[in-house]
Amino acid sequence: MDQRKTFDVLVVGLGPAGACAARSAAQAGRGVLAIDRKQAAGIPVQCAEFVPPMLSPTIDAVSAARCQTIQGMLTFVENEPPDHKNNFPGVMVDRAQFDQHLVAKAIDAGVECRFNTVVTTVDTEGSVYLGSGEVIDAPVVIGADGPRSRIGRAINSVNHGLVVTRQITVPLCDPYSATDVFLSANYCGGYAWLFPRGAVANLGLGVQPGKLKDLKPLLDSLHRELVKQGRVGEGILSRTGGAIPVGGMRVPHGTIKERLILLCGDAAGLSNPITGAGISSAVVSGTLAGESAAAWLELKGHTPKSPSMVFDEVFTEQIIATGKIEEGRTLRRFLQRTEQPLLQDWIIEMGKRVLAHLPIKMLVKMGIAGAVAPRTRRWARAGAAIQEYQDQQQAEHRKALKLDELISMAEQELTSGSPQ
Ligand SMILES: Cc1cc2nc3c(=O)[nH]c(=O)nc-3n(C[C@H](O)[C@H](O)[C@H](O)COP(=O)(O)OP(=O)(O)OC[C@H]3O[C@@H](n4cnc5c(N)ncnc54)[C@H](O)[C@@H]3O)c2cc1C
Repeated sequence: MDQRKTFDVLVVGLGPAGACAARSAAQAGRGVLAIDRKQAAGIPVQCAEFVPPMLSPTIDAVSAARCQTIQGMLTFVENEPPDHKNNFPGVMVDRAQFDQHLVAKAIDAGVECRFNTVVTTVDTEGSVYLGSGEVIDAPVVIGADGPRSRIGRAINSVNHGLVVTRQITVPLCDPYSATDVFLSANYCGGYAWLFPRGAVANLGLGVQPGKLKDLKPLLDSLHRELVKQGRVGEGILSRTGGAIPVGGMRVPHGTIKERLILLCGDAAGLSNPITGAGISSAVVSGTLAGESAAAWLELKGHTPKSPSMVFDEVFTEQIIATGKIEEGRTLRRFLQRTEQPLLQDWIIEMGKRVLAHLPIKMLVKMGIAGAVAPRTRRWARAGAAIQEYQDQQQAEHRKALKLDELISMAEQELTSGSPQ
C-alpha cells in the first residue's frame, strides 16, 4: 500500500547542492521535503576536501569546517621537477562537517530533512517513489542526487562523461600548504592529487571508467613513491572514491506532465571538467535552483505570491507609470495588495519624525504628490518602451514555463466538461 504525501518542493540528495536548494526554497516560504539515501549528512566523505576561494567568503559552512589554508599548487608531470604556482589560494575543509553544517541550516529554515531514504522510481506523472513505500507528489522536484542522478534520468538529462576515482587518507610527515597535482600518461583521462589536511593528506587518483582496474595499482604505486620520499606515512587511515562528471553541463531543467524538474550540482554536470572540483558550483547552483523553484510556484499560482514579489510588482508598475520613485505611493499600494493596515505603528512614528524635520516647502510638495501622481517630463515614451520590454520578458517566461499551453489545456477541459 502506498502512502501519498504532498509538498511544494521535493529535493532529492542532501549534499551541498541539495541542502542549499532546500534551504533557499524554504527561506522563500515553501514547504520542502529533502531526502538522502545516506544514513547521515556528509558520511561517508567522497571528496578531496579542497574549496577554492570563490566560495570561502560567501558561506559560513567553509569557516565552520575549515581545517587549513592552501597557498600554492605544485604540478608534477611524470618524473620532471614540479611547476610551482605560488598564488593558488583555498581552504581544506572537513567535508562531513561542511555538509552537516549546510543541512543544519536547511533544517533551521524549516526543511523536513530525512536520511536513510532512497528514491527508487519516478513515474510518468512525475510522482516520486521512495524505498519506504511512500509516494511524494510535488509540483517541483529538484534533482541534487549527484553524478548518476535518477531524477536527471527521468528527464533524459544524463551525465555521460564520468571519471572514476580512488582516494586514501594517509599521515603527512611535515606540515604542508600546497596542493600537489600529478600528471602522467598512465593516468588516462585524469590526474592524481595530494591535498594536505593538518596532520593527514588525501591522496587520490581519477581515470576514465575504462581504466577502472588500473586505479588501485597506480594509486598504490604513487603512495609507495611518496613514502620513499619521506612525505607521507605508510598507514592508510581511510579509503573512499566515487564518480566525477567531466562531460560538461547537462540541460538542467525539464518537465514531467505539469511538474517542473530542476537539476543542480553534479546532477547537472556542474563540476569543473578539468579539475573535477564541484563543491562551489553545487552550492551556487543549489541555491539558485531553490530560489527558482519558489519563484515558479508563485508564477504558476501553486503558492500565493510572496510579499517581496508583490513589492517588486508594485514598484515596477509605479516606475513605468510615472518615471519617479514615489516611496509613499509604492508603500501604500504594497500594503493594500498584501492586505495590511495602512496605519501601522512604525509608519506613524516615521511620519512624525519626517514631519518634525522636513522644511515646509518639501512637505507641501509631498502632500501634492500624494494626491496627484507626479510624472517626469517626456517620460511617456520611455515608460512605454520599458513596458514593452517587460511584456516581452514575461512572454518569454510564459513560453519557458509552458504556461499558455497549460492554460489552454485547462480551458479545453473546462469547455469539454471532462476534467481528467
Ligand atoms: C574522490 C573525489 C574527490 C573530490 N574532491 C573535490 C575537491 O577537493 N573539491 C571540490 O570542489 N570537489 C571535489 N569533488 C567533487 C565534489 O565532491 C562534488 O562536485 C560535490 O559533492 C557535488 O555536490 P552535490 O550536492 O551535487 O552531489 P553529492 O555531494 O554527490 O550529493 C548527492 C547526494 O544525493 C544522494 N543520492 C543519490 N542518489 C539518491 C537516491 N536515489 N535517493 C536518495 N538520495 C540519493 C547521495 O547519497 C548524496 O548524498 C570530489 C569528488 C570525488 C568523488
